[in-house]
Amino acid sequence: MAREVWVDEDVCISCGMCINNLPEVFRFNSDGKAECFDASGASEEEIEHDAIDICPVSCIHWK
Ligand code: SF4
Repeated sequence: MAREVWVDEDVCISCGMCINNLPEVFRFNSDGKAECFDASGASEEEIEHDAIDICPVSCIHWK
């Protein structure tokens, strides 16, 4: 089972990088902040490298 991913939307600056890199995992919510809607949409390594590591404000976390 995929690990769960949590975006701290109080910190997210809506840059869209995680969504551009992994649109099968992240999307914008109704507040215009990123949210993870399907952590199984990519491997843990992809989520680590293409989202967690590149988020400019480091607000994507494993639960
Ligand atoms: S990369 Fe970080 S700051 Fe940018 S949209 Fe995703 S969660 Fe928000």
